[in-house]
Amino acid sequence: MKRYKSAILTTIALVVAVVLGLLPNSATSYYPPCVFHKLTGIPCPGCGTTRAWRHLMHGHFYDALYTNPLVLIAEVGFIVYVVWLWVDTVRGSNSLDKVMHFHMKPWMYVLVGVLVLANWVWSIQKGI
Ligand SMILES: [Zn+2]
Repeated sequence: MKRYKSAILTTIALVVAVVLGLLPNSATSYYPPCVFHKLTGIPCPGCGTTRAWRHLMHGHFYDALYTNPLVLIAEVGFIVYVVWLWVDTVRGSNSLDKVMHFHMKPWMYVLVGVLVLANWVWSIQKGI
């Protein structure tokens, strides 16, 4: 039952994200602006997240990749996660748990940090 609860809650989160991503552009004017960007004039490391998601939801993969490639990877990863969770839940398997308990090595944290930093510098250069 706990597994179904997790699967249902993550599916609800995904459905809400999909619906928000599919809203017309006029609806996005209600989204709050980035506080970091407002205060500093430069984009934060997460700037472009919403735009990348909206591009993805409208089938504009190149635009999503250009807007924020790391977020695109995370968004696709979330979709894979939800599908995998449902497959595991229905089959009574725990293959996702085994993957999620993977321990990152120190060099992997450094790699993630370098990728986030590189993406941030690129976002600043693009003027997102
Ligand atoms: Zn931001």
